[in-house]
Amino acid sequence: MRGQRRMMQSIRLGLSFCAAVILISCLASRQSYSEPVNQAGDQAALPDASQESSLDSMLPTDYSRALPTAQVLIDVGHGGIDGGAHHEELLEKDINLAVAKKLYLLLQNNGIRAILNRSGDYALSDDNRWNPSSSRHRRDLSQRSQLTKEIDTQILISIHVNWAPDRTEYGPLVLHQNEGQSALLAFCIQDAMNRRQNTRGLPRIGKPFYLLNVVKKPAVIVELGFISHEGDRQMLTDPVKQTEIAAAITSGVRNYILLR
Ligand SMILES: [Zn+2]
Repeated sequence: MRGQRRMMQSIRLGLSFCAAVILISCLASRQSYSEPVNQAGDQAALPDASQESSLDSMLPTDYSRALPTAQVLIDVGHGGIDGGAHHEELLEKDINLAVAKKLYLLLQNNGIRAILNRSGDYALSDDNRWNPSSSRHRRDLSQRSQLTKEIDTQILISIHVNWAPDRTEYGPLVLHQNEGQSALLAFCIQDAMNRRQNTRGLPRIGKPFYLLNVVKKPAVIVELGFISHEGDRQMLTDPVKQTEIAAAITSGVRNYILLR
């Protein structure tokens, strides 16, 4: 009996040793995201599995370093089945994407790291497999806000186009959270867009907007202009003017980074 027990103990010890080796291998491969593996692939460099303190030292101190980072997350409004506002055949989702792509390039050219949350015509609600809500709109919005948690971003800029039953309403409008950094970002972008479009609108708190309420980083919604206004519509669909709009937003973001 004693011999059998001893054999069981050594099997158990062997198994726990294997588990420790597997764990260390996993940790070592995980760490390689931020620290290149020793050229020789040197197993001898691994600490003794029995020394717990050595194991602790193998743990990456910050797992988020393995995730993408960006200063600006560009949220491209609507997409796919959700066209947003429209005027006849013209859909908001297409204008948002065209301006957002230009904004992405201009931010990158100015040394500001940016990420687009959609680069084509699809609905973000289709990407969302974790929120059980039957509301596609809710799944879409929660997917957009979740990205700000998963990607280490400093600010979120959500790109949209406005619509009003009064066809004389025009001009850009930036909506912000009830918070200082978001308000500062909104003022910087609104000011740059007002200069570009010769308008005088002031940014506003976007109280009823889900995205602004749930995102924990400074976030703004940029309404580029009114799809219901003829002049704005011409501006919003002209590729040269779209670039000028994107340049205005970029200069607003640059000013914000200098001021905050
Ligand atoms: Zn919209």
